[in-house]
Amino acid sequence: MTVTYDHQRLQDIRLAFHRMKKEEVTAFLRGEEYPYERPLAILKEALLKKDQKELHVALLAWQKILTPLRIISPGNYSRTQVKLARIEGYSEPNSLVALEVNQSYRLKTRVDKNGHFTFDQADLAFGDNTLVLYNHDFLFIDNFRFFLHIHLERHYYFMGRHDPFTQRAFQADELDSITRCKTCNNFMYDYSVMENHGYCTMTDCSSKAFFDSKDTEFWLP
Ligand SMILES: [Zn+2]
Repeated sequence: MTVTYDHQRLQDIRLAFHRMKKEEVTAFLRGEEYPYERPLAILKEALLKKDQKELHVALLAWQKILTPLRIISPGNYSRTQVKLARIEGYSEPNSLVALEVNQSYRLKTRVDKNGHFTFDQADLAFGDNTLVLYNHDFLFIDNFRFFLHIHLERHYYFMGRHDPFTQRAFQADELDSITRCKTCNNFMYDYSVMENHGYCTMTDCSSKAFFDSKDTEFWLP
């Protein structure tokens, strides 16, 4: 098998090498042991020789010692009503894991010393979501990205509740005229708030700030 790394890939490997070299020096100055000393030395050799085959072997050696990225929950192609999803998995201890949500934003979290990581607040869009997870520190080794597909169903938390002002029961098709108080979290009609001079219609609440259905907080329990 012939392996060829393109220019971009080689650049990523070199950048990772320099980052780890710095980490190694920092560890040395602190009198700490650097866990990747050997594979880093092998990688250095391969980069100096500019030998693609040797580079491939060096990267395989890395692959062997690292904890592979895997996701424990949620399951792939699962359905949920939880808008702020919790993503949990395992990867190389103390490294950085990145999560991209629908190509719109990226979160990062540090893996703990036992290899466990959690993203608590992955804000999902309604319908199908594509989440991409990868190990930010060790992506250079195999460019491995884990694709996670989650379907978010709408759940109307205002259903079964009443507008405090008119005492009307909310209906699903009234979504656009329902707001949620930022202070007491109660749902109410926007026209009830207008009638109440812009104030929350709950007796003990004097808030003038509200969420609508475009805000994430509107959709939380
Ligand atoms: Zn309120």
